[in-house]
Parts: sequence; structure tokens; C-alpha cells
Amino acid sequence: MIVNMQQPRDGNYLLIVDIDGTINEMGQKFDHARVRDIPPMEAAKEVLRAFLKRGSTIVYLTGRNEVEYKNETLDWLARHGFPGGEAVVFYSKKYGAWTWKSYISFKLSEIAKLERDNENQEILILDDNDSILRAAVKEGRKGFKIRSPRDWHELKARFINQASLF
Ligand SMILES: [Mg+2]
Repeated sequence: MIVNMQQPRDGNYLLIVDIDGTINEMGQKFDHARVRDIPPMEAAKEVLRAFLKRGSTIVYLTGRNEVEYKNETLDWLARHGFPGGEAVVFYSKKYGAWTWKSYISFKLSEIAKLERDNENQEILILDDNDSILRAAVKEGRKGFKIRSPRDWHELKARFINQASLF
């Protein structure tokens, strides 16, 4: 659980960040063989660090299975210098066998849980998946679709550069 008693202010978000296709170059099709050596998106690191510097918190939320991928994923995040890599939520077997449907319900219920545990922070969901974003945004949260380094730069322009005016 992450507790943050700070009052909300501009630039201070709880960022819920997807991994595959969002901070790495996996694209839209998960490939087990590429997990260990998947290239990161350099822009993702830069922008996440900038958020962190302004008081945001980062939690990675991934559909990767905890049993199979936990160590490799934590190692990859650390090896590539991703900030906030100590807080990673993995798909666990309590959500049943992995299907698209269970994946979406896993993500939405973990997002709701993070929201309850961090009620003083505004949530910002960063994901490459349309269904996740649509569902999350429909429930009143902020979300931003990211599939490329260019999207990271656009996110920075919208959420960080604006906030730094204050
Ligand atoms: Mg993804």
C-alpha cells in the first residue's frame, strides 16, 4: 500500500503505468521470448523522472503474471533505471487464468484499489490499451494513451510543462 498524505497540487499525480507497449518497445503483441532484452523507451524514463521530481508517485501495473515474470521484470526496470520500480503490481492467480477479459478486470480493480489507498492524489493512467483507458476514463479518471516516444513527449507537454507554470 502506498500512502501519501500530501494535499493534491498541480503536477502531483499517482501515475499508474503499464509496462508492455507503454514503457518498452513490445508493441501490441506480447512476446515471451523478448521479455528479458526488450528495449525501453528512453523518453518514458525521462518523463517519469520529471513527474517524480514534481512530487508524483509511480506504480507500475502490468498484466504480466507474477509467478512467471516478477524477477525478470524487477530486474529489467532496475537495469534500465526506471524510477519508482519498487512498486509493481502483477497479474496474480486470484484473477483466474489469463484472458483479455480477466486482464481488464484485473487492471480496473487494481486501479480502484490504488485510488482508495491514495485518495489525496489525482490518478493518471498511462497505458497503450484502448479498452483499459476507455473503462478507466469512463469512471472519471484521467488517462493518457501511450504507444511511442512521441506520446511521452506529448504527455510531458500537457501535464508537466503546464504545471510548472505555477
Ligand atoms: Mg500494454
